Amino acid sequence: MSEFRAWVIEKTEDGQKAGIQTLEDSALMDGDVTVRVTHSTINYKDGLALTGKAPVVRQFPMVPGIDFAGEVVASGHDGFKPGDKVLLNGWGVGEKHWGGLAELARVSGDWLLPLPAGLSAAEAMAIGTAGYTAMLCLMALEGHGLSPAAGPAVVTGASGGVGSVAVNLLAHAGWEVIASTGRTQEADYLKSLGATEVIDRSELSGDVRPLNKERWAAGVDSVGSSTLANVLSMTRYGGAIAACGLAGGMDLPASVAPFILRGVSLLGVDSVMAPMARRALAWRRLAEELDRKALKDLTNTIGFDEVERYAAAILGGEVRGRIVVEIG
Ligand code: NDP
Repeated sequence: MSEFRAWVIEKTEDGQKAGIQTLEDSALMDGDVTVRVTHSTINYKDGLALTGKAPVVRQFPMVPGIDFAGEVVASGHDGFKPGDKVLLNGWGVGEKHWGGLAELARVSGDWLLPLPAGLSAAEAMAIGTAGYTAMLCLMALEGHGLSPAAGPAVVTGASGGVGSVAVNLLAHAGWEVIASTGRTQEADYLKSLGATEVIDRSELSGDVRPLNKERWAAGVDSVGSSTLANVLSMTRYGGAIAACGLAGGMDLPASVAPFILRGVSLLGVDSVMAPMARRALAWRRLAEELDRKALKDLTNTIGFDEVERYAAAILGGEVRGRIVVEIG
């Protein structure tokens, strides 16, 4: 029996509360692999879970943290043995199964990936669910047959986690990248990641017309709502937008005009239940294609006890790039 520290979200009479607790490993949920977690992250969804702003947590008490990297300490799974370096993201971890904001995690080995060659645990979590989702978006655009020759790509919520990584991945793949942000003071940062143009997000948040002047052939949208509707209305004939987020709202006040008059496609991207082969490919590509200096520049590292503060900050749109949580 050993003890470990974990963030725990508990239900209260008037909502929920989160705090650090010391638990015994016998309290861990079922799973055939136990991992000593060295790094986790704060994603937007972790912010929702820790603050209770949306019903992300579906079972209490819950250890939050939708992703983690670390080292296997015990395994009954054929694919993993003690000492293996692994990462996990999604599969409902941190929502209905205890997650990565803890020194120990016990999960199904079927959810784990070996840490990709060339990535440290800290780098894997600097990428995290947000960066991996940005790669899924790029893969969706490529799968649709789009390439940089089609025209520019727009990235909304560009200063955020998904956005920052998407800017760099698209630029690396040869796209001209138009970064949309509410923080135009971050223009130099976005250009250092590879953006060729930075626009104020107010250009995309106003009233939605069925069609607007064609501005881009592709896009990665982590904002949703009127931003996504405007992005669609400005997409070139035959273009496509990969939609993965709702930072600006869950609604979509769009018309069908871009679809039926310009053949525009809306590509939905989910990271949580993505099949293993697709996520393995995404992580392999991230290890190969993401510029390490850019990754360093877009990453802030915080301590275990700072988690709650940054959970609130990410929902307030105050976090630039990605946050890594050093555990232990
Ligand atoms: P971040 O908070 O890091 O980034 C979101 C960015 O969106 C902010 O930095 C800000 O960028 C912009 N933004 C925030 N609020 C608003 C607003 N009200 N209107 C317009 N823009 C806004 O979050 P992540 O990058 O981690 O996640 C982004 C979204 O993607 C979230 O909704 C998240 O739930 C979703 N997501 C979905 C996944 C999936 O599987 N489909 C996986 C991962 C994330 P700026 O200041 O530059 O404008």
